[in-house]
Amino acid sequence: MKFTQTFIPTLKDAPKDAEIISHKLLFRAGLIRKLSSGIYSYLPLGLRSIQKISNIIREGMSTWGAREVLLPLVLQKDLWEESGRWQAYGKELLRFQDRHEKWFTLGPTHEEAIVDLVRNDVQSYKQLPLNLYQIAPKFRDEIRPRFGLMRGREFIMKDGYSFDMDEEQANKTYQRMYDAYNWIFKQCGLNFRAVEADTGTIGGKFSHEFMVLANTGEEAIVSCEACGYAANVEKAEIGYPDSGTGTAGEESPAPALVETPGKHTVEEVSGFLKVRSSDIIKTMIVKADDTFVAALVRGDRELNPIKLKNALNANEVQLATDADCVGISGAHAGSIGPVGLKIKIIADREIAAMRNAVAGANQDDHHYTGITPGKDFQPALIADIRNAVAGDQCPHCFKPLGITRGIEVGHIFKLGTKYSLKMHAEFLDESGVSKPFVMGCYGIGVGRTLAASIEQNNDNDGIIFPITIAPYEIELIAINMKDKDISDTAEAVYREMKDRGFDIIYDDRDISPGMKLKDADLLGFPVRIVIGKKFKNEGVVEIKVRKTGEVITSTTQALVEKITALRKSLLP
Ligand code: ATP
Ligand code: MG
Repeated sequence: MKFTQTFIPTLKDAPKDAEIISHKLLFRAGLIRKLSSGIYSYLPLGLRSIQKISNIIREGMSTWGAREVLLPLVLQKDLWEESGRWQAYGKELLRFQDRHEKWFTLGPTHEEAIVDLVRNDVQSYKQLPLNLYQIAPKFRDEIRPRFGLMRGREFIMKDGYSFDMDEEQANKTYQRMYDAYNWIFKQCGLNFRAVEADTGTIGGKFSHEFMVLANTGEEAIVSCEACGYAANVEKAEIGYPDSGTGTAGEESPAPALVETPGKHTVEEVSGFLKVRSSDIIKTMIVKADDTFVAALVRGDRELNPIKLKNALNANEVQLATDADCVGISGAHAGSIGPVGLKIKIIADREIAAMRNAVAGANQDDHHYTGITPGKDFQPALIADIRNAVAGDQCPHCFKPLGITRGIEVGHIFKLGTKYSLKMHAEFLDESGVSKPFVMGCYGIGVGRTLAASIEQNNDNDGIIFPITIAPYEIELIAINMKDKDISDTAEAVYREMKDRGFDIIYDDRDISPGMKLKDADLLGFPVRIVIGKKFKNEGVVEIKVRKTGEVITSTTQALVEKITALRKSLLP
């Protein structure tokens, strides 16, 4: 492709709303343009990169047994009522009516549509396993679209759905998708981790998020360098509790009531009483389904609602209202504590090890000091219910855990029979018994993968594309189009490379060398061939590797051989 025959509107400045580097560079390099909030157009270079990522996904999905389909974007309400999600999905679901006043949605995900397809056409276990995927636009009316392609409202997703006859078959399919995803993201040249995510009611190790490591990531990942354990913060288990940090060595004294006027937060109370925040017991009253429970974590820790929900075996937990707190404890939040509380207490494992601690006294503006769990109050349940922090012990090898940030580019999840039961999607097993399909679902954000790659691969000058997802692998630059010697040679090199099947773009614009080289850095093609001064003086062309900055020279005759070797060395 020649620059003059395509559309690459590069810009010096990024738009005002661009906060992160990938958003800025995607825009400045002319890969995308915004049409409205969270809604983007892909320009030729952006689209090529998206197509390369899509083709890697296709290869991975196909190799591990999935087949491509294309489902409609517009989905009718009755399907979504069958699954119960017309109501449950909330405001992210864009609902609209056609001319007959029938309701529809733009699909944010396609479980309903695929289940309908499969239940109509698959009747027998002999047709299983079946694993179907598509690569297509999705629409989610995100509350805060931001970061460009990272969190759009309309975005391209690969979504796959598997149908198996039993758990065993479904688990094998899950493992295959896990392997496919590892291959796909490696092939995209990303530094990523597959982390265990919360499985909600399904349990087991059947939900993984694929996280690209980047400081701008929205997710916190807990990982162990020693054994490779990785999980998102919602899920990460902690090896075993640190020894309690209550005042060490002291005998546990009797509780004493102290006034703490206007001091409600851990910070305020610890400052006022001159104790460490780790000496404070933080008490939160939550409603677990229909029951009120008091959850305790150390003052310097954060309660983890998902761990709490799982420990209580509840479907839903939410913080109690202020009125409920007062009704139950006699005090407002900030003065509530476990001593004398009449509801069930669940304590984090660290709480059990505390001595001589401080806790709310269930009397506004009062706290107790000298509290010892087990003596002054009895937790009904002791469990790991806090967020892991750096330095906690790994649940597998007990080495210290670290925290890094990540961008979720993919998610694989075992659905079980959730949708097949609700939507009556069944097949006949070997003995003629009707059974619901056991399902799994597998998503990849295609645009987000592109953005995440740029987030991970850039410098002050621009993008540094991994060769597998670069819009073009090689850029050819003729430094001065007016110099016939140079432009003729460039044209000949371009022709030959193209004929030999190289993925090459030729900057044939009649602009200054400086502008061409600046754009080349911004656009980030992995290999650059420059025909310029050195060609005039020494008869050689320069080859530059964007990633390392390394420059080698070559005669035009040796170019193909050198580029072939270089290209190979850049593959993942
Ligand atoms: P998130 O927690 O980031 O909102 P999600 O859990 O809603 O993600 P899934 O429903 O699992 O995401 O979607 C599959 C994949 O689609 C995600 O892993 C992500 O890569 C991508 N994705 C989800 N929402 C968006 C969005 N608004 N813009 C771009 N990509 C998205
Ligand atoms: Mg979401």
